[in-house]
Amino acid sequence: MTELSLGSSPPEAAADGVWLACIECGRTLAPFDEPTYRCPDCDGLLEARYEEYPTFEDFSGRGVWRYAAALPFESGVSLPEGDTPLHEVPRLEADVGVRSLRVKHEGMNPTGSFKDRGMTVGVRVAQELGVDRLACASTGNTSAALAAYGGRAGVETLVLLPAGKVAAGKVAQAALHGARILEVDGNFDACLDVVAELANMGEAYLLNSLNPFRLEGQKTIGFEILESFLAEYDRYPDRIVLPVGNAGNTAALYKAFRELVEAGALDEAEVPMLTGVQAEGAAPMVEAIEEGLDDTRRWEDVETRATAIRIGNPVNARKALPGIRGTGGTAVAVADEAIVDAQRTLAEEGVGVEPASAASIAGLRKLRESGTVDDDEDVVCLTTGHLLKDPDAAAAAGRDPEPVPNDTEAILGHLAE
Ligand SMILES: *Cc1c(COP(=O)(O)O)cnc(C)c1O
Ligand SMILES: [Zn+2]
Repeated sequence: MTELSLGSSPPEAAADGVWLACIECGRTLAPFDEPTYRCPDCDGLLEARYEEYPTFEDFSGRGVWRYAAALPFESGVSLPEGDTPLHEVPRLEADVGVRSLRVKHEGMNPTGSFKDRGMTVGVRVAQELGVDRLACASTGNTSAALAAYGGRAGVETLVLLPAGKVAAGKVAQAALHGARILEVDGNFDACLDVVAELANMGEAYLLNSLNPFRLEGQKTIGFEILESFLAEYDRYPDRIVLPVGNAGNTAALYKAFRELVEAGALDEAEVPMLTGVQAEGAAPMVEAIEEGLDDTRRWEDVETRATAIRIGNPVNARKALPGIRGTGGTAVAVADEAIVDAQRTLAEEGVGVEPASAASIAGLRKLRESGTVDDDEDVVCLTTGHLLKDPDAAAAAGRDPEPVPNDTEAILGHLAE
């Protein structure tokens, strides 16, 4: 994992031991002087850097802000978020056939997805910058989280959604939490292009995962998984399987592990293998891993029922590809039918997730069948959003209601059929 080292002597631009660095050319920038999303020299992605990286002993409290020692601030606009369950799924574990399988259910965050972890930190940074309008492009969950956290902070929020392609629960959340919703006649990637332009013109502060501080919040998923798994099993998981859209989470988890290695809190050999799962109809990251590319090719036409990962141009690919490779992980594409099947299986074991989240389980299954994942592995699958986010998908995947007469005898007869 030398490829993306976290060299830690603070440049002049640093503020309280925090700065931004370009992952391509190494240029360093002041973190909170003005909104900055990409390197002014080479357009590369930026990453938050710290003078010091904490060890597990430096963490206290609960939720995202338990990890304040690894974040740019001590506290932020909080609902609160994080501290999500690491479910046991014994039937699925036996069926998949691994040493252990746990499901980290990020759908249990305040607005029902892991995006809340990024927003609590991102909105705190927005306050530091003194901006008066927040914006994002979204396949849905980012808009719900931004609307809630922006509303909580009392700042105007603007969300750009691909018209007709966002699950009902997510639009409802963004609307009720008070965002202005702009429905764009185009896909998610087009929405992101537009909102990035608005941000560059100074019209709004961008809170997509291109924003490096979003990923700082999401990094805490990695810390939580390691701490919970260690507490229960006295070891770390071998592999973390997660759905991939813009690849922000993949990049964020990798950063969490690099920081712990840098701090001497984790051995390189203990870092879990990051394993990304995409839908077959939207799989540029899988293509890049399979073909050994340094960056993804933009897929113009993407389609999947897992709308949260219906993304053809993953903005964080240059951070996430080294994460998958550097940890010895892999990436795999799954069919929509396999996603729906996994969603149903999880739900029958009591864990309700939206389709994109179930991709992690579908991907694990496929990798077990191909022998890529061994039967002696300890695996954590990340489920990113709650079942109720996409009620239409849930209704389609679940059983049909059975019409019966308003009569006990008739109902008994029906049940006996
Ligand atoms: C945002 C989102 C993803 C994709 O995460 P990335 O960090 O963009 O790869 C996956 N699942 C759900 C439910 C999401 O909301
Ligand atoms: Zn640069």
